[in-house]
Amino acid sequence: MDTAEEADICRVCRSEGTSDKPLYHPCVCTGSIKFIHQECLVQWLKHSRKEYCELCKHRFAFTPIYSPDMPSRLPIQDICAGLLSSVGTAIRYWFHYTLVAFAWLGVVPLTASHIHGSTRSWELQL
Ligand SMILES: [Zn+2]
Ligand SMILES: [Zn+2]
Repeated sequence: MDTAEEADICRVCRSEGTSDKPLYHPCVCTGSIKFIHQECLVQWLKHSRKEYCELCKHRFAFTPIYSPDMPSRLPIQDICAGLLSSVGTAIRYWFHYTLVAFAWLGVVPLTASHIHGSTRSWELQL
């Protein structure tokens, strides 16, 4: 009998899942390291202080994953926060450079007009 090969075991404690300690598939790893007890995962998370799998870099989800192809829980808040802050920074930079550009467009032709006498053709070249 090769049922031992078929049995899913926890990657931490190497024991099978039971009804009171079911096995979870919290990341996208496959094979013998695919499953883990929630208790073992919590212990590992405390020990490693990481929220993601060190092998597949997938952020652990505390819900059973029924299919490896099923889209798993994404850190949406993290993505949104990162996106918002980068958009905010981009808008600030854009605003800053727009003001600088307006200042230059206003100041330079005026200054140039004093130096060159005529700014008409110089402005058109912009
Ligand atoms: Zn375990
Ligand atoms: Zn993994």
